[in-house]
Amino acid sequence: MADVAADWLPDADGWVPAARRVPSPNFDARPDGMPVDVVVLHNISLPPGQFGTGDIEAFFQNRLDIARHPFFETIRDVRVSAHFLITREGELVQFVACTQRAWHAGQSAYCGRQRCNDFSIGIEIEGADDQPFTLGQYDTAARIVAALRTTYPITGIAGHSDIAPGRKTDPGPHFDWDRFARLADVTPALLPYRRGS
Ligand SMILES: [Zn+2]
Repeated sequence: MADVAADWLPDADGWVPAARRVPSPNFDARPDGMPVDVVVLHNISLPPGQFGTGDIEAFFQNRLDIARHPFFETIRDVRVSAHFLITREGELVQFVACTQRAWHAGQSAYCGRQRCNDFSIGIEIEGADDQPFTLGQYDTAARIVAALRTTYPITGIAGHSDIAPGRKTDPGPHFDWDRFARLADVTPALLPYRRGS
């Protein structure tokens, strides 16, 4: 496994010191005794296709300025979060402690296991289905996944589209799983939806 700097390791409360902390109220407790063993990768941009607006953080903190864009009316009552966001610059932002259940996956199943929020860590990568991600984002994704594997018994990494097919398309066709796997030192066994492809 890749070497991990100490400040990238989640602390006992599930917070990563290297991440900028932007607490979201959108979380609750994981089921008792549930192992945290899956990582789910997403993409998000707000407004869609725009980067660096600050609106993702506002959305996850339920303080989105609805007047800023017509699209925001469609998500005004949506209460969601992810544990992490990786900005276009590769900055790591944390919204929810890894020990808690963030609301990122929705109706979903990982290899037959329902309700992926119960047992997964959600990482949003700022982007869109029709645009490449930045090299800095791959570096950060690899570093945080390596750190999570050091701390939690991670057995698999999947895209949102893998666990909610037909409903979700992210992280999308531009996400280079091979590059990510190489940088994160992730073996094919940890990528059950990519094995053999
Ligand atoms: Zn998603």
